[in-house]
Amino acid sequence: MSGKGGTGKTSIASSLAILLSKKHKIMCADCDVDTPNLGLLLGLNEKNYSWKRLYTSEKPALISNKCIGCRACLNTCVFNAISWKNEKPVFNKLLCEGCGACEIVCPADAIKFKKVNNAMLGIASSHYGFKIVTGQLKMGESGSGKIVSLVKQEAERIAKNDSCEFILVDSAAGTGCPAIASIQGSSYVIAVTEPSPSALSDLNRTLAIVRHFRIPYGVIINKYDLNKKYTLKIKHTIQKQNAQLLGLIPYDDAFIKSLLNLEPVIVHNKELEALFSDIIKCMYHVL
Ligand code: SF4
Ligand code: SF4
Repeated sequence: MSGKGGTGKTSIASSLAILLSKKHKIMCADCDVDTPNLGLLLGLNEKNYSWKRLYTSEKPALISNKCIGCRACLNTCVFNAISWKNEKPVFNKLLCEGCGACEIVCPADAIKFKKVNNAMLGIASSHYGFKIVTGQLKMGESGSGKIVSLVKQEAERIAKNDSCEFILVDSAAGTGCPAIASIQGSSYVIAVTEPSPSALSDLNRTLAIVRHFRIPYGVIINKYDLNKKYTLKIKHTIQKQNAQLLGLIPYDDAFIKSLLNLEPVIVHNKELEALFSDIIKCMYHVL
């Protein structure tokens, strides 16, 4: 999990998955449904997945012959998702938040909500011998929290069938609904951060959520040597909260090579393998 984007969360997740899979039967769930990249870093492309459509969002549709042109819906929508054309409302699906206000105020029962295909769910087998479930929210669509829950449900179903010992979840970034849905029910959270003021601020928000759910957690500080002053501040934060410092990862070009070549970072720097193995050992002590 990472409050801030760009901390190396997915690069670290892909390497941890490969190392864990050497000793355990595992599977992965990519819950970063706005920008799912875990599969990419494991060398998968869209064609490697079997896909199914998800419908977790509803949007309004006009029943034209019932509409009396009163403009109540137009005047009610605070998201500017309704325009006016030929004396009838027109709904803009990209701006609509699906709040339902227009349906409530319509005196003619001329607005009905319809389920929309707002995301895709994909299942693939990685080249490393474990499966991955991923969610992909369609651009401009809402409902990412529900998509994350469905991705996790599917991962749990497969994990049960395949007798997996671990499901490794690449959480949605940020601290909103998809991030919360990503960690719910987890037995351990690894928070990935970097030494910068914004990352520290986001880490505090992230850890507040993790503590709320009373999930044991540890923190990895990536690129720790780029700003030792903030690394120290983050260490103090971790100490104050009696949390576990799982590892300090130095800035390393291997992360950039990994992203460019779509390969896990341990492929580009074998020394990192030892560091990630230590991180897994720290996690074992708690699980
Ligand atoms: S559902 Fe809400 S956001 Fe969408 S058009 Fe109606 S009032 Fe606007
Ligand atoms: S509130 Fe209903 S009747 Fe009035 S303009 Fe909108 S859709 Fe038509």
